[in-house]
Amino acid sequence: MEKIKNENAAGAADPAFAAAEKLIRTHSLSVPEYAALIEGRTPDITERLKKEAVKLRKEIYGNAIFIRGLIEVSNICRNDCLYCGIRRSNRNCDRYRLTRDEILSCAEEGYGLGFRTFVMQGGEDPFFSDDVLCGIVSEFKKRHPDCAVTLSMGERSRESYERLHAAGADRYLLRHETADPVHYGKLHPKEMSFENRMNCLRQLREIGYQVGCGMMVGSPYQTVMNLAKDLKFIEEFRPDMCGIGPFIPHKDTPFKDEPAGTAELTCFLLSVIRLIHPRVLLPSTTALGTIDPFGRENGILSGANVVMPNLSPVSVRKKYELYNNKIYSDAESAQRVARLKERMEAIGYEIVTDRGDIRRAPLS
Ligand code: SAH
Repeated sequence: MEKIKNENAAGAADPAFAAAEKLIRTHSLSVPEYAALIEGRTPDITERLKKEAVKLRKEIYGNAIFIRGLIEVSNICRNDCLYCGIRRSNRNCDRYRLTRDEILSCAEEGYGLGFRTFVMQGGEDPFFSDDVLCGIVSEFKKRHPDCAVTLSMGERSRESYERLHAAGADRYLLRHETADPVHYGKLHPKEMSFENRMNCLRQLREIGYQVGCGMMVGSPYQTVMNLAKDLKFIEEFRPDMCGIGPFIPHKDTPFKDEPAGTAELTCFLLSVIRLIHPRVLLPSTTALGTIDPFGRENGILSGANVVMPNLSPVSVRKKYELYNNKIYSDAESAQRVARLKERMEAIGYEIVTDRGDIRRAPLS
């Protein structure tokens, strides 16, 4: 492929073009180079990175898109993250918690639809003690040893992560939210700490989970430098999964009047992350689908390779409202999976229903 011109109109070497070429060649940039790439991105650079990202993903994963059944187990949360609609100080949030049987039956339904990975996500609800959660995970694994269980239940103790792993949990998603401690402090209440979040991620890795980190794009106070640090952190931490999506304000939070992140920057960063870690499992998120009706497709076309349809009972789907206008559907899961298959096929991709583990070797 022809290189894009490494010069701007004045003929001087352009740092963003140079960074793009270096990223393609070496899969690594310095923090200032990531910042220059983000700041100086042009439609040409975006196109170039997108093509390279899609090419790399094709070499490793073909045209396979993995699906994960998302079960939103509870919107009860002891934390008070300033951006999040289910924060504990939001009195307008209609709280719910699924029972063990409801969770297991959502998963059962998903299994019948071909899902082989389930993500249990929720607020930090004290009801889900280690005993309760281990019981659910081990029962599920007993019924379906061919499936992967992913947890996304926030910050817990090392001992808790160890017990859950021993009970059969394979993967853990815990977005780092921002790799800059000062920025972290502006998004979270005083009692939460950047150090603890990062420690949790390291512990999860040590225990043997496949680990996912990630951040919101366009969160309040976020600078280009913050995003550059996020990318460097992703490069160095080498997560197995990486969840990024635009920040979207929620009306009952202190950030209600803040602007949302853009689909354009989110998709650009998806391409960059694919180039940093060609094998990473990269979801095209619900938040991206919320700010742009074609967002989920655009995410895939930029380098993502995972979608996470909602398997929660229809009656609670609307209540897990992290941000305003979160897309949800009253349709039964079966109809929605069929529709998702069509949408992915329409852009040349195929939903596959295996566990969708990270591929360590290229397709032969
Ligand atoms: N309690 C779990 C799950 C949190 S919800 C945990 O701490 O990991 C999952 C993710 O949704 C969060 O990590 C955050 O990045 C994202 N999120 C929360 N509020 C959001 C908002 N207003 N806009 C976009 N994404 C948001």
